[in-house]
This record gives sequence, C-alpha cells and structure tokens, in this order.
Amino acid sequence: MERNKYTVSVFKPSNLARKDLKKLQPYQPAMHSNVIRLDANESPYDFPPEVIDDINAGLGAQAFNRYPDPLADDLRAALAAYTGTARECILAGNGGDEIIQNLILTFATGGKVFITSPTFAMYEVHSLIAGAEPVFIQRQEDSGFAIDAGEIIRQENETGARLIFICSPNNPTANETAREELAAVLQNTKSLVVVDEAYVEFGGQTCVPLLKEYPNLAIIRSFSKSFGMAGLRVGYLLAHPGVIAEIMRIKQPFNLNNYSQQAALAVLGHLPLFQARIENIIEKRDRQLKEMGLIKGIQVLPSATNFITFKSRRPAADVQRELLNKGVLIRNASAPGFENYLRAAVGTSQENEIFLKSLRELL
Ligand SMILES: *Cc1c(COP(=O)(O)O)cnc(C)c1O
Repeated sequence: MERNKYTVSVFKPSNLARKDLKKLQPYQPAMHSNVIRLDANESPYDFPPEVIDDINAGLGAQAFNRYPDPLADDLRAALAAYTGTARECILAGNGGDEIIQNLILTFATGGKVFITSPTFAMYEVHSLIAGAEPVFIQRQEDSGFAIDAGEIIRQENETGARLIFICSPNNPTANETAREELAAVLQNTKSLVVVDEAYVEFGGQTCVPLLKEYPNLAIIRSFSKSFGMAGLRVGYLLAHPGVIAEIMRIKQPFNLNNYSQQAALAVLGHLPLFQARIENIIEKRDRQLKEMGLIKGIQVLPSATNFITFKSRRPAADVQRELLNKGVLIRNASAPGFENYLRAAVGTSQENEIFLKSLRELL
C-alpha cells in the first residue's frame, strides 16, 4: 500500500518528461484491416521469392547471435556502385527516418532548421525532438509548389540555419526541384543543404553530380518506396566524408540489423528485377494521372513519384472518410497553405481501378 501511495503521489511521468515535447503527438498508425492501402506510398508488390532465397543464403550461420557490421561495409560498397559515388561518401541507416534524425541531432540542436513546406512531416518532428527550431519557408501553389530559392537564401543570410531540407521529388506535392535551383541554394548559403531523394527512382533527376562540387550537400535515399522494402527499414546518406564523420559520433553502432543489410544487398544484386517494377509503377502512375484528370471536382498535380496528389472541391476529410467507407485508404495531405489536398499511392491495376471507381462515385 505504502509503495502504491508513493508511486501515485510523487512519481508523475508527465512532470518528469521534457516540457518542450508536450506538443508532439505519438505517431498514429492507420489501423484498418481489409482495406486497399494507398496511404503510405508503399510498393504494392511482395518481395520476390528468389530474392528472399538470396537474403537467407547471404546471412550465413551466425546472423542472429552476432552483432551486425556497424559500418555496413558490404552494403556501402554495393551502394557506391549503384549511386556512382565512393564508399566513404555513404552512411547506411535504419530507414531514411533515422538518417533525418541523426542529421538534425548532429548539426541542428539549438539552431534553426529550414523546412520547405508543405513537405515530409519528419523534418519538423525530429527538429522538435532534438531541440532545434523548425522554420517554414512556404512553397506556393501558383508556382506549382516550387521552392522559393531566393527567400531561402535571403533568410539564411539574415538569420543563419544549420540545415535546409529540400525534398525532391517532394512529398506530398510530387514535383522535383531543378538542379540549377539546388545549386543556387548550395552556392549562396553556409548551411548543410539536405536533399531528400526518397522518390528519385520514380522519375526525378538526382543531384548526385553536385556532390563533387558542393561539400555542403547531403542526399537522403530510401529502400522503402522504390524497392518495396518499407518493412525492413533501410535508408542511406550520400555526403562529403567530413559530414559523415560528424554523424558517426552519435550514430547507434548497431543501427542496421543483419537481415536488413542482407536484404538491401540482395535488392542491389537483383537490380533489373526491381527496376522493371519501378517502370511498371511509373506506367500505372501515368495512366492513373490521365484517368484522374478527367474527374470533375478534383485538380491533379503532375507527379514524379509513386503517388498522386490532388485538390478536392469537397472537404478533404469528407473525401478521405467516404473513400475509407468504400474500402480504400488514402492520405489527407492537407496542411496550412495546402488545404483540401489528398494523396494516393499507385497500387496494383486492380487497386487503382477500385480507387478510381470509388472516387468517381463520391464526387
Ligand atoms: C518515406 C519517406 C522517407 C523515409 O522513409 P524510410 O521508410 O524511413 O526510409 C524519407 N523522406 C520522405 C520524403 C519520405 O516520403
């Protein structure tokens, strides 16, 4: 009894927890079974059996009782070949999300992080977690959601920024940023400029060629979307070795488990198979863009990704809910300055048909 009393009256986790974290909400996973899931930009395709065989063969006998390689050296060597860079310029991570977190923890605590919004939510979330200040520099609808390079440079020159996040192609606006525009930001700021290329395999132009020229460039990549590996959590950073050396001070030594390292290696060992799947998704996306362009009551954005973002005349929350009632889950992508936008991943032909039919019915 005594102990209970003590526990209740003295120990209050909410008093002990960091006050500055109160505005963060735990991530809410979408818990719906038996629905068509087009809400998280995942690949609709299972991992091929021959690739799973390769993963198991590559694992060897001691894969589960020994710690993984903290440097993921074999994977980095394979990634160097895939990206046309060098192993010293690569850092492997537990998904792109861990890379984002480690970049902000290493470079931005106590400083500003510029975020070109609307964009991926994790830049803001990890800034708040790390005690960095997110600063939003809005993309404008009337410029097709292009970044405002002039404004980024002006504000950086005035207030400074530790990191500038530019997602290209951008989630959720689906457009890419031209290399020349990225070069302008790299040239005229002293920040580390982070270009998130999580969707680049679906049609964006990579900015890897800029790495040689600009030591203040860092590029995030992911195996989750293009290679259909969201469940195994592999991402990587391409950057100057000096940038990677700083992150290595804080990186968890065993961030990337044995199985995931082997899985990523197996994907790169079967690249033509995965590239054919990417081509297939691109074809389906373009067909879907055409079909959705004919639907009255929505406005569809062009897409260089594996998802389609559209503006609805009806409230986005209603559209999302009514689609879910019909068994199709998509994302309400609405944000300040981005009202009534929704985002739907490209699925299998059958899933895309059902989504189109349901959308036509409710508009
Ligand atoms: C999905 C996504 C990521 C990271 O995904 P991981 O699964 O953590 O690799 C990073 N950036 C953007 C813009 C994304 O949409």
